Amino acid sequence: MFAIFKKLAWFFKLRWKAYAIAVSGLIACSILSAIIPLVIGNTVDLMATGTLNWSNLRNNVLILLVIGIVMYGLRYMWRNNLFTSSTLLESLMRNRLFDHFTKMDQYFYNKYRTGDLMAHATNDLNAIKFVAGGGILTLTDSISITIVTLISMFFIIDWQLTLLTIIPFPLLFFVARYLGKMMNENFRGSLKAFSSMNDRVQESVAGMQVIKGFGEEEDDYHDFTKSTDHVVESNRKVNLINSAYTPSIEVITGLTSVLTIFFGTYFISQGRISIGDLMAYFSYLGNLTWPLLAAGRLMNTMERGNVAYDRIEKLLSQEAKVQSPENGVDQLPFKELDVNIESFTYPDASSPALKNIQFTLEDGQTLGIVGKTGSGKTTLFNLLLRHFDIDQGEIKYDGQALKEIDLDYLHENVGYISQTNLLFSTSVANNIRFGRPDMDQDGVEHYAELASIHEDILEFTEGYETEVGERGVSLSGGQKQRISIARTLAIKPDILYMDDAMSAVDAKTEQSILTNFKAERQGGISIIATHRMSSVMHADLIIVLDNGEITERGTHDNLVAENGWYANMYNQQQLERKITEGGEQDGSI
Ligand code: ADP
Repeated sequence: MFAIFKKLAWFFKLRWKAYAIAVSGLIACSILSAIIPLVIGNTVDLMATGTLNWSNLRNNVLILLVIGIVMYGLRYMWRNNLFTSSTLLESLMRNRLFDHFTKMDQYFYNKYRTGDLMAHATNDLNAIKFVAGGGILTLTDSISITIVTLISMFFIIDWQLTLLTIIPFPLLFFVARYLGKMMNENFRGSLKAFSSMNDRVQESVAGMQVIKGFGEEEDDYHDFTKSTDHVVESNRKVNLINSAYTPSIEVITGLTSVLTIFFGTYFISQGRISIGDLMAYFSYLGNLTWPLLAAGRLMNTMERGNVAYDRIEKLLSQEAKVQSPENGVDQLPFKELDVNIESFTYPDASSPALKNIQFTLEDGQTLGIVGKTGSGKTTLFNLLLRHFDIDQGEIKYDGQALKEIDLDYLHENVGYISQTNLLFSTSVANNIRFGRPDMDQDGVEHYAELASIHEDILEFTEGYETEVGERGVSLSGGQKQRISIARTLAIKPDILYMDDAMSAVDAKTEQSILTNFKAERQGGISIIATHRMSSVMHADLIIVLDNGEITERGTHDNLVAENGWYANMYNQQQLERKITEGGEQDGSI
């Protein structure tokens, strides 16, 4: 049960002063609150014996007043120290986690679902924060109030009465142990259920358009209610045990009260204690109830924190498989690319996604990759960018093995425009200058023009300052793609990879963007994966991928002459274009 405190020892050491102040404040409050029943008891005795007068009443009221004021100050002090510390712990751990997320590779993101990661970053951190705040409070308070109260009852009121009335207390130990254990076991289940429900919410919200598009709202809702039912069911078990806990404690304290009335009145009749003593004694019993109830909650809090901490530690202990080499190469002209992929299989996949891919590109050359969906185009980019490591084979930039190149350096110099155009919730201008935050407005507009998005942006309500995302303008697929293109061009990459990056842009616009590229880049290596044959017809080399393998390779003329898949697709697309555009010229690089 105390395992979590051991795990958090590093933080308690770090904030030892704040915790020392908080714990001392809490103990001082427990001691002061033990004086209050004595003062009230004394007042009752004075009344009962007819000796209450203005002077002793005023003294007692003054004592209560001073205790009240001092306790106010102490409470302010411990609260401030304790809860500032627990918030600090949460933010420290959240930063560590986020930092870790940014270092993780695609292997990690393949393995963990987004919903799970979100649950870790919110619920788990909350549970740990609670241990460092509420947990320490409950623990210190339970122990100090119990000890101070029992000492007061034993030494100040009457030790015999105390011994006789706390006979039922050992029962508490068994209740706390038995129910506490059950509660912990069920709690783990409830955390798991919550995590998987979180994942469902995430997936459904992200895919709502698809769900609606297929008219699957009803089914999705039913599926979702199953996971909420599971959460309810697992929480119900926790609550059932929780519900049994409080009444059990109350029965035990009730028994104690019965014993107190019985023995207390007897002791009064014997003259061992006064009426005021009995009243104070009852107040003490009342004071004891809270720590007893809290002990159950404390176990829950600590177990929750413990499970949460373990889950976070497990995440933090995951090492990225793809690591930037120490002292990696960070000076390269990026004028030559040599690819030799013998085989690459995704983790947990049964067959290779790419096999026998070989090609070499030199400065100024463009490679076109075409092929059906799922043929391995994105996978090839994943390997070129070292999102994953190749099982067999090697990729070399300027003769330098990819594994030897500093990863940040690689990503800063190789521009990649993916199929998924994620833009951030900030202005259009800031999205374009994402890789070069210091770029001025002229620069931003220049790249927007290159990507043929400038005119569109001017039409947005606030032009370049228009917010993108939930709070701002909703962009069409083509607009998002062109902003992504501008963002990538803005980093002036030596090498440019485009993964079906213009699928939502019409052929004519694509043509003008590609022409702009050529004029702007003056050389450089480009790889363009596309579904539109005309986009790559002037590439220096075109490869056709099918099921992870190269099935055709050559220039446009070679491939057309071969009369294979490429020629077929090209002719078909030409025909479609002629029909829809009335025989206009092709867009091509
Ligand atoms: P394309 O870009 O040509 O559509 P991909 O490279 O995305 O094709 O996919 C090639 C193959 O690899 C497909 O069979 C796909 O299911 C599989 N694949 C893609 N990404 C992953 C992944 N992260 N984990 C496992 N398999 C994957």
